[in-house]
Amino acid sequence: MTRFPRLVVFDLDYTLWPFWVDTHVEPPFHRSRDGSVRDSNEKMVRLYPEVPDVLERLHGLGVTMAAASRTGEIRGANQLLELFDLTKYFAYKEIYPGCKVTHFERLQQKSGIPYSEMIFFDDEKRNIIDVSKLGVTCIHVQSEMSLHTLTKGLETFAKS
Ligand SMILES: [Mg+2]
Repeated sequence: MTRFPRLVVFDLDYTLWPFWVDTHVEPPFHRSRDGSVRDSNEKMVRLYPEVPDVLERLHGLGVTMAAASRTGEIRGANQLLELFDLTKYFAYKEIYPGCKVTHFERLQQKSGIPYSEMIFFDDEKRNIIDVSKLGVTCIHVQSEMSLHTLTKGLETFAKS
């Protein structure tokens, strides 16, 4: 039987969406009448296209999920998770500046799940290097979070 992780953790900027929430867009955000999510300059903001499918697949597998971001734009990031209807997927949200080791220490304390049962997707190599040292299976997201990246990550975890 395939070994699945008990906790899957996602970075936000350039992992779930194609921008830095503290730099490239202007909070606060809102949902416009056409259903799109927009920033305060009416610029449309979006997720990477396969992100809802990725989260839905993991939800279907019964895997617990979390978000971990080092952004300083804490309110904006949380607001986007609400507007994109993603908060229902995340049992834990660790969103604040600092080293991602801190985010994972808190995730471990809150969930009680050992690092060896976690998988982490992030686009930044330095976060991958830091969090790998804890014993978490870390997947460097090269372009965007997609179903293909999820499958490759789960295969890597199963072999770890
Ligand atoms: Mg990132």
